[in-house]
Amino acid sequence: MSTSHPVITIDGPAASGKSSIARIVARRLGFTYVNTGNMYRAMTWAVLQAGVDPQDADAVRTAAAGIVIDSPVVEGKTQVCVVGHTLSDGELNSDPVNRAVSFIARVPEVRERLVADQRALIAIGPLVMEGRDIGSVVFPDSPHKIYVDASEEVRASRRSAQGHADQVAERDRLDKQRKASPLVVPDGAIVIDNSHITLEQAVEQVLAALKLS
Ligand code: C5P
Repeated sequence: MSTSHPVITIDGPAASGKSSIARIVARRLGFTYVNTGNMYRAMTWAVLQAGVDPQDADAVRTAAAGIVIDSPVVEGKTQVCVVGHTLSDGELNSDPVNRAVSFIARVPEVRERLVADQRALIAIGPLVMEGRDIGSVVFPDSPHKIYVDASEEVRASRRSAQGHADQVAERDRLDKQRKASPLVVPDGAIVIDNSHITLEQAVEQVLAALKLS
């Protein structure tokens, strides 16, 4: 897919630090920051609100078909809204959403819908978009691809430091093993392991690696 504006794609496993890096890179460049994990989390929140079992793929598919996620831009980053309700960080990162999101995200029809929404966001202008399949599926032709990694121990401790009792290893297992758009290092991506460097150092490495004219 050709893009009219540059898109910096940032993929990586849960709690790798990619959101913090992506947010700062976007601010430094004046690009809009898009966290696609929040789109999958919003869909999950809405599916759970509808009382659907997240592991029942047929029921998820049916419920998701009627759910629209809006992504208005506020202060340089996209929010996620479901029928006019802007979801809070607490709602997006609640324990039930953490437990269910990888089951919702493995349903191909859910992915098709959200990938189409993500591609449409290019109309906003230059983007920094982070997720699991941005460089591999959403914008595979982008010349600006980053993959952020960190050791499992570092990721688990970062997640608990944020106050989330999240099973990052289990989410990663589901995200890497699913049939539809599994988490991979995209072709052409520059890999940055930030287990033992600071956030500022990781941001500098990303900015140095990008060849933005
Ligand atoms: O980035 P975050 O950890 O908030 O993402 C939550 C979940 O959403 C991931 O574990 C994954 O299951 C799903 N996701 C995805 N594709 C993306 C972004 C997130 O499948 N592009």
